[in-house]
Formats: sequence, structure tokens, C-alpha cells
Amino acid sequence: MFDFWRRALFPVFVFLILSLLVWVTVGALPATLFFSMMMLINLVLHLRQLKALDFWLIDSDERMVPDGSGLWEDVFMRLNRMVRQHHKEHKQRVAALQHMEQATSALPEGVAILDEAYHIEWCNPLAVQHFGLDYKHDIGQQITYLVRQPEFAKYLAVRDFNEPLVLYGARQDGLTLSIKLIPYGDNKRLLISRDITHLERIETMRRDFVANVSHELRTPLTVVNGFVETLHDMPNLENNMARRALNLMGEQMCRMEQLVDGLLTLSKLEDTLNALQEETVDVARLLRTLLQEGQSLSAGNHTLQLELASSCALLGNADELRSAFGNLISNAIRYTPHGGEILVSWHEKGDQPVFSVQDSGIGVSPQHIPRLTERFYRVDRSRSRETGGTGLGLAIVKHIASRHQARLEIASEEGKGSTFSVIFSSSRCLSLQVEETIAN
Ligand code: ADP
Repeated sequence: MFDFWRRALFPVFVFLILSLLVWVTVGALPATLFFSMMMLINLVLHLRQLKALDFWLIDSDERMVPDGSGLWEDVFMRLNRMVRQHHKEHKQRVAALQHMEQATSALPEGVAILDEAYHIEWCNPLAVQHFGLDYKHDIGQQITYLVRQPEFAKYLAVRDFNEPLVLYGARQDGLTLSIKLIPYGDNKRLLISRDITHLERIETMRRDFVANVSHELRTPLTVVNGFVETLHDMPNLENNMARRALNLMGEQMCRMEQLVDGLLTLSKLEDTLNALQEETVDVARLLRTLLQEGQSLSAGNHTLQLELASSCALLGNADELRSAFGNLISNAIRYTPHGGEILVSWHEKGDQPVFSVQDSGIGVSPQHIPRLTERFYRVDRSRSRETGGTGLGLAIVKHIASRHQARLEIASEEGKGSTFSVIFSSSRCLSLQVEETIAN
């Protein structure tokens, strides 16, 4: 700082000395004129440098920093250093950005960055391909204007991004995408899209195969079962052995029919074209019926209780809910020894309607719990078979729950009992009274 003032004031000091000499030799007026002239020249020199700086600033990217002299030499030198540093950092940033772009282009998934209002800020080539975007025109557009499937709009509106959304024919026929939205930073969102067309095709083939085999098996099973029953009922069948064999055959046929029915039910639930037919379900009435059926299945061997602590009617499909709730009640009866207690409950947890079945049965040890909803997964095969199980019940319950955007929760302790709960979202809770008033 001191150096700056020393260099800035030095010429003025020299002018003053010279002016004093002029004063002594020629007089005061010429000395004043001389001093003013020198100061003017000094000012013009400064203005020239300032002009050069101004000229450079207008187009600083293209031009070199001007060479200065005197005081300005230092200033321009520092400016030059700053500009070089800035260029270097800029180059590094561009390289890092290019590197990132290359990496995201190589990703096997489409990636798009959206702002809080779902405008596209940036996307990689695969996202362009998946959503049929025109990079030049569609950047800045709202993604909901471009991807118009109602299920996509619903996915964004519900804001539950834990599970990916499967989107069929998103801007391209025959293309199936798995889409996931990941919120990050300051209200930004990362939209990840994955082409699962091939996987979906294999999955559809598997589903069709199971559905077709089950369907084809149904007729021969019914025929054979009919013959077994006819033979069994023949009055002149005296051979005990034959009667026992026919009894066993009848039981096994029955089991096979149940298996085929279970597989067909699962195929129907998995069918993407089979959308959920929603209606207002009077859960209290449904549960009273299911409790009666449970009592006849238990044949007086258990104490069954019904707790109706919620007045919610449910927006859902009555047949599917009957099947799911019925399965859980029948499981509780089948896996609870005689004398046990079963509590069927319809209540609310927070504002979410919950159906639960609590039993004092054999329970399940923790390592089995995550696998119970897999098809044909049974903790104890022989017990399941003895009690007429197929190993498909909980898989069916899980599917029905997910079709209702509900989740199945299992709490169990081996030897003490289990609680199976189906937790629905609060938006599915309807008031029956209001419905009735509207109907009136
Ligand atoms: P299953 O027809 O064999 O009952 P599920 O899919 O309904 O098939 O159930 C799968 C397995 O989960 C059963 O085999 C059983 O081991 C276990 N399970 C289901 N419900 C209960 C329960 N209430 N108590 C104990 N174990 C149960």
C-alpha cells in the first residue's frame, strides 16, 4: 500500500520541485502554469491506461490484458495473473464436466435432472432415447408435458419414490421402462429410467406359461376327480383297500385343484391388463361374514374375536379383499393349536386403516419371516399339507395388498403367536355415512 502511494505521488513531487525552480527563476505565474501542465499530462497518461483497460474489459475473452506502464503496470500484471488462473480453472471445470458427461453417457440407465417443478435441466443420451426427447427443444420443458401417461403423473403426485414405477409404452410402443425418482440437493430430482422391455417379456412369458398350464390342468383334474368320486360312491365297492385308495386319490385331487386355483388367482392378480376394479367395501360387514366362516373352519377349537375399532369403509375390490383377509384368518386358525385365541381387528394406526389377525399359535422364527410371501415357501411343509395349505396364500395376500398400495407387515415369535397386518393408505378410508347421504 505504501509503495502504491509512493509511486503515485512521486511524479507530483517531482513536478512540485520543478515548479519551485521555475518560480525562483521565472516567477509564480509560469510556475503555476508549468505545474498545471505537468498534472494534465499525468492525468492524460492515466486516462489512456484506463481507456486500454475499458477496451479490454469489453471483450476480455478474446483480447490479451494490455501492457501498462508506471502504476498501471502492476495492476495489469496482477490482472493478467488472475485471468490466466481463471482460464486454467475454467479449463479444469470444462474437463471435469466433459468427464462427467462421458460417464453418464456410458451409464446403462437414462438420467435426467429435474427442478422442483419437474422441468428438465439436463439429461443423458439414453434418457433422450427412453423418453423420445429432442435435446435442443425439450430442455427446460416440464417432463409431465412430454411423458403423458396418467400413472406417471400419479407417481409424481403421490411422492412415494421408494418403489420404482413400471411404465409401459412411454413415448415408444413396446418399450417398458422402470422409472425411479430420487430427490437430492436443493429441491432437485434425479429421474432414472431403465429399459426393462426384455425382462418384462420374459416375466410375461413366465406368467402366461403358469396361467396356461394351470388352465389346461383344470379340465382333466375335474374329470378325474369326478370319476374318483363316482367310484368312491359305488355301493358295491367292498374292497377296503380300494376305498382307502380312492379316499387318498380324492384328497390329492382336491389339493391339486386348490393348487391350480391358487396359481390361476396369482396369474390374474399379476396380469397388468387386469386393473383393480375399485368400489366402496363395507369392511365391518365383510369381516363379520369372514368371522363366521372362520368359526366353522375352526369347528369350535379356537376362540375367535372380532374388534371393529374403525368406522372406515375401504376403497378397494371386495372379492380381492375377501380373499386376502380370509387367507390370513384361515392361516391363523390352521397354525394355532386347539384352545388358542385369534383376534381379528379393523382399526386405525395414525390415520391409516389397518386390518390385522393376531393369533396365539405356533409362530414363525425371524429368519423365515422375510420369505413367507414367496410362492411355495413353507416353514413346515408337512403341517401346511396336513392343514390343506398350498404355500400360495401369503403370496396372494401380498399381491392383493400391493394392488391396493397397502403393505403386509408380519410380527411373530416362535411358540407364542403371530400378527399379520395389512396397512392401507389413509386416502383409501371412506366414510360409509357420507356415501349413503350422497346416494340418498
Ligand atoms: P400355506 O398354504 O402353506 O399356509 P401360506 O402362503 O399361507 O401357505 O403361508 C406360508 C407359510 O407361512 C406357511 O406354510 C406357514 O409356515 C407360515 N404361516 C402363515 N401364517 C402363519 C401363522 N398365522 N402362524 C404361523 N405360521 C404361519
